[in-house]
Amino acid sequence: MFLCGSYVNTSTSESVVPESNHREGVVDFVRWLLAQLELEVEETGGVGRLQLDPSDRDAFGGQTELRIALQDAPADGQLEPLDFENVLSKWLLARLRTQGPAAHVRPCDQPTAVKDISSRLFTAYRVEGGRVHLGGCQLVDFPFLRLSFAAMDHGRPCVRHLFVAHDGTSVSDGQAHDLGLLDVEPILKSPPRIDETVLSALIASGRRIATKNSTSRDPSASTVDPISIALVWVKHASGQLHFTVGDTTVALPFSGWARLIEAQPFVAKRSGASSFHLAATDDGDIDAFEEIATCEQSGRRVLQQDLVTCSVTGKRLLEKFTKACPVSGKPTQTDQFSNCSICQQRVSDSVLENETCAACRQMAKIKKDDPRLVWILGEHTGLDRWKRWQLAETQNVYIAQAESLMKRLLVVADKETLAVRHLATSGRLASGWTPTEEAARAELLQ
Ligand SMILES: [Zn+2]
Repeated sequence: MFLCGSYVNTSTSESVVPESNHREGVVDFVRWLLAQLELEVEETGGVGRLQLDPSDRDAFGGQTELRIALQDAPADGQLEPLDFENVLSKWLLARLRTQGPAAHVRPCDQPTAVKDISSRLFTAYRVEGGRVHLGGCQLVDFPFLRLSFAAMDHGRPCVRHLFVAHDGTSVSDGQAHDLGLLDVEPILKSPPRIDETVLSALIASGRRIATKNSTSRDPSASTVDPISIALVWVKHASGQLHFTVGDTTVALPFSGWARLIEAQPFVAKRSGASSFHLAATDDGDIDAFEEIATCEQSGRRVLQQDLVTCSVTGKRLLEKFTKACPVSGKPTQTDQFSNCSICQQRVSDSVLENETCAACRQMAKIKKDDPRLVWILGEHTGLDRWKRWQLAETQNVYIAQAESLMKRLLVVADKETLAVRHLATSGRLASGWTPTEEAARAELLQ
């Protein structure tokens, strides 16, 4: 939101001052002018004393010393408050113009060296058993233009600043604030160089923006000239952070305005997790610390995603130390398997009850045309003599039971090949099973 524009009370009364939310009191602006011109002022009680060089004294009626009000309401009643019409302000502005088309300044609190960036970023990360370091950082100065206009707001003289970005676009209030354009300090030694044509183009853009910001009231009015033009050199940083543990290094690029740059979380390649806390697996993969855990069988530090939970013990361990239980399908430590007393399969202890696996406990009645039974009977035609089929299946086998007049039959067949893995019979009222000898198998199956 722009505040209302106001007309400057000068000879160019038909000219209009661009509107801007960036205002500065005259005193603060004069303080900047004095600093920019390297004029040393001794200040006491809001009054500055400036010793004039002999060559400058004529401009001030031969005075050797100037007394300057450096507070809006000077403690010394003899001093007039500052505005841009008095001799001192005009002299300071004229002197600034002799230094070149634009003064060079920078945001007061922007990082100026690579170490300022690195120290800010490094503290955000923790690397277990390793370190974070810079894999390169480049600081580049970008010129933002500041056009300063004398204005009157609420009856008091002030300065309105208008900012232009390095690419000639206008700068939003938020960006001006974020980049620190409102609080600048002089660059007195070796300012960055700018090509004359680039500077002219920036100034032309600034004037266009100033006109645009001025014409809301009177399209025919012209814009007043700025009283000063400054280049605010804003640093942009880009580079890479390196995280090293042992022989492994991973990189995290960064890029942004130096004043705004903030540590970003490292995004691990394998787990995809984002973190400021890094560590390495025993295989040398750097990942988020939270994603690394210890295999309870081998003691190796690996990624969580490489571990499975044993269905019996609940331990977290590498998959290679487990097998899938054919009944539950769950990974299980290889020493946590036992034989089911019925189907004779090796199953995880978690599915066994009274030495009977969950599949054998949950046999379901099926009809003769159940496709699974059709396959089994098609392969082993002798089984067709049996009635009242029940069936269960595990990952690897079909477990089928049937009855005849006097006996019960148990057949365990491989799901893929339909080969019989186990065959047993029992009396109709008996509880146990008698495995069928190899020699007697053919009699039952064919
Ligand atoms: Zn079983």
